[in-house]
Amino acid sequence: MDSVSIKEVELTRKRVIMRVDYNVPLTQDGLINDDSRIKATIPTIRYLQDRKASVILVSHLGRPKGRDSRFSLKPVKEHLEKLLEQEIIFAEDLFSEETEKISQNLKPGDIMLLENIRYYPGEEENSPILSEAISRLGDIYVNEAFSASHRAHASTYGVPSILPGYAGLSLEQEVDYLTLVRDNPNRPMVLVLGGAKVLDKLGIIDKLLPGVDVLIIGGGMCFTFLKALGVNIGKSILEEDKIEVAREIYNRAQKEGKKILLPIDVVVSPSLAPDSTGEIIDVRKMRNGDMGLDIGPQTVKLYTEEILKAATIFWNGPMGVFELDAFWEGTRGVLEAFKESRAVKIAGGGDTLSAITKGNAHTYFTFLSTGGGASLELLEGKDLPGISVLRKKEKSGE
Ligand code: AMP
Repeated sequence: MDSVSIKEVELTRKRVIMRVDYNVPLTQDGLINDDSRIKATIPTIRYLQDRKASVILVSHLGRPKGRDSRFSLKPVKEHLEKLLEQEIIFAEDLFSEETEKISQNLKPGDIMLLENIRYYPGEEENSPILSEAISRLGDIYVNEAFSASHRAHASTYGVPSILPGYAGLSLEQEVDYLTLVRDNPNRPMVLVLGGAKVLDKLGIIDKLLPGVDVLIIGGGMCFTFLKALGVNIGKSILEEDKIEVAREIYNRAQKEGKKILLPIDVVVSPSLAPDSTGEIIDVRKMRNGDMGLDIGPQTVKLYTEEILKAATIFWNGPMGVFELDAFWEGTRGVLEAFKESRAVKIAGGGDTLSAITKGNAHTYFTFLSTGGGASLELLEGKDLPGISVLRKKEKSGE
């Protein structure tokens, strides 16, 4: 990436303000449902500690309107203490003299966690007062919150406008892999798209299509494409106002010599309910009462052939209603193809990651993107303020 990595910075005795994304799902009793976002920051915390830096962690949690204990980062502090087997200093009030004093006396390896930065309205307004208050606590800034980098808030944009800002280890990986997919994929490049809606995928298709050799479409979104081609899709999910766009994408892909694959068989059911059972039928034999809820086995075979020829694969969106076992086989089958493939394999998207978890398939991939909206924006070629504000590498010859 263009930004300077923390690997290139002298860290000894530095107080490092690290923006992390500890926006974790909490239960009603304040227990952490899924700690993967916390665990993901541990390598960078350890990296800083090993180099004798102290760490000041800054995060948001949810969307509180002012101070609200339901959104406190205290449970995260306790959890992180267990994971790191170390006591963590918790700073309730960013603006107190006490907090500033503690920050000045941090010793190498010490960790301080600030209370939810969204308790302050200035966070989302990118207020200079808040940015300065945070900046006073440290010497340098590290962004390890890729998923919050599409927002120009005080803690993602204001602080690195004041202090020298660097890229954290996992942020660097996320940017590098997604940029590779977007700008420079090894060919053949196969783009596998599924999930509920065409609308969410339009930006990706538009930006990635030039570098794509094969576009594979499954999930609910395939029915809008099938409809555009004149297929009877029965009661399947349809975005009426996207039929024309789907037709344009199909025609553009064909004109540019891309292969575009749609299901040849589907799993249908008269309705979608937890106890629904599926029937496999040829896609051209769908009846008015049919709802297409998964791709069929012949389609899995067809998609597998292309996946196995790929040098780069990007996958976003399950092939069917994978949450129900009756409509999980299509996604499971495609996961099997990913397992076999020797390509650089990158997947992203909340539901895609859930499907990978259901299939216990994390190791099938080269990289799993967890950036959500920020990943989409990067793939669509948009500028991410939290990244473009970081120190840039000096380019030789300029
Ligand atoms: P997305 O968030 O766009 O990746 O969409 C994921 C959701 O799409 C999952 O909850 C799936 O259950 C749903 N989905 C996948 N295939 C279909 C389908 N054929 N009909 C309706 N919903 C689907």
